[in-house]
Amino acid sequence: MVLDAFSVRVALGVVTLTLFVLFCTSYRRTRSPYAGWWSVALLQFMMGNSAFLLNGTPFQLWANPTGNVLVVAGAFSVWAGARTLRDMKAAPWQLAVAPVITAGASVLENPASNVWSGGFVYLAMMTLGIALAARDLWFIKATHAQVHKALSVAAGLLAVYYLGRWVVYAVEGPGSATFRTYFGPAPSGLVSLVLLVTVSFSMTALSSDQLIKGLRERATRDHLTGLLNRGTFLDLATTELNRLRSTDSGAAVVLADLDHFKTVNDEHGHRAGDSALKAFAEACTASVRSTDLIGRYGGEEFILFLPGATQERAESIATEISRRMASTDVPEGVFFPTISYGVTSSFPADQDLHSMIEAADAALYSAKSQGRNRIVGTDRLGAAIIADGARS
Ligand code: GH3
Ligand code: MG
Ligand code: MG
Repeated sequence: MVLDAFSVRVALGVVTLTLFVLFCTSYRRTRSPYAGWWSVALLQFMMGNSAFLLNGTPFQLWANPTGNVLVVAGAFSVWAGARTLRDMKAAPWQLAVAPVITAGASVLENPASNVWSGGFVYLAMMTLGIALAARDLWFIKATHAQVHKALSVAAGLLAVYYLGRWVVYAVEGPGSATFRTYFGPAPSGLVSLVLLVTVSFSMTALSSDQLIKGLRERATRDHLTGLLNRGTFLDLATTELNRLRSTDSGAAVVLADLDHFKTVNDEHGHRAGDSALKAFAEACTASVRSTDLIGRYGGEEFILFLPGATQERAESIATEISRRMASTDVPEGVFFPTISYGVTSSFPADQDLHSMIEAADAALYSAKSQGRNRIVGTDRLGAAIIADGARS
């Protein structure tokens, strides 16, 4: 029994269409870029293979080059999808080069009578596109089980198969027995069929992974400022403090509260208040190191955990934040308030986080009662440093 190319292509078309519908539904639900690119790839494969069905008819002249271009474009869409899982993008020109070269080669070799018109370039581009996808799938930093590695191996095997097709095509030609038996349209259609199903199946796991990553990001961050939310801040700071304790290092905690913030909202509007909160978050981020933790502790109250920082260093960071706030250009209709700080430190770290926050809160209370816009340390609750010399 001999496999005929037409039947395999029809089966491939039906399976691709089914997967396309399923993936479009998944994309509409999850908006996972990976599912989106995979839907685009399936559409391109489906249309490309449909075009190949016209081989042997008078339409072959345009249908065959079109099929080559669409299938190559599909391989590069798979690559683009794999890149989104690494938070990387493929530039439009990178996606266009291979289909454009394939189009040129396909129209040059008499496509009306030659079904393998442009075959050499087509097979080379397919090998390249699939190999690139395999490479990017391998390097994904996934939180999910190692699905992406299995996928990468599957794509790698397909790339090797296409490399085989390309080499035998170049050495023996498409009419040779070896090519027709192992690398012709029928066997390669069958290989593609098995791979499409396998890849689509694992794809679900990977797009959920992308979705979960997005949700986790949203669950750990404050929506307005992008800083850590209170719960995540406390978890991370506790872990960090325990680590510091075991190495006899210290840490500082800074509580910051915007002054008379209610008045900002009342006099300039809630949106102006929101801009001030965002500007403050940016001033904090710009003033600390990447290993420091910043959280939104409450409405207009913020908290910093500074591993390895002394009392003096923590207070100079607070001064720096207020200096930045004071020198930020204030948008029209917005007013940036001054800030009060309570600072505490523990060197080496022998207090727990809860006591450090309580101490910083007492210092913050003292800063408020001494007139606001100042920094008070737990070591001198009665004396303050003016936080913002520029405006006091
Ligand atoms: P103090 O100097 O004593 O801290 O006075 P205050 O007015 O800053 O303190 P109070 O606790 O009376 O008011 C805090 C205000 O912060 C009230 C609340 O409407 C506002 N607020 C809390 N969260 C947000 C927010 O996300 N956006 C805006 N615009 N305002 C917020
Ligand atoms: Mg306040
Ligand atoms: Mg407050």
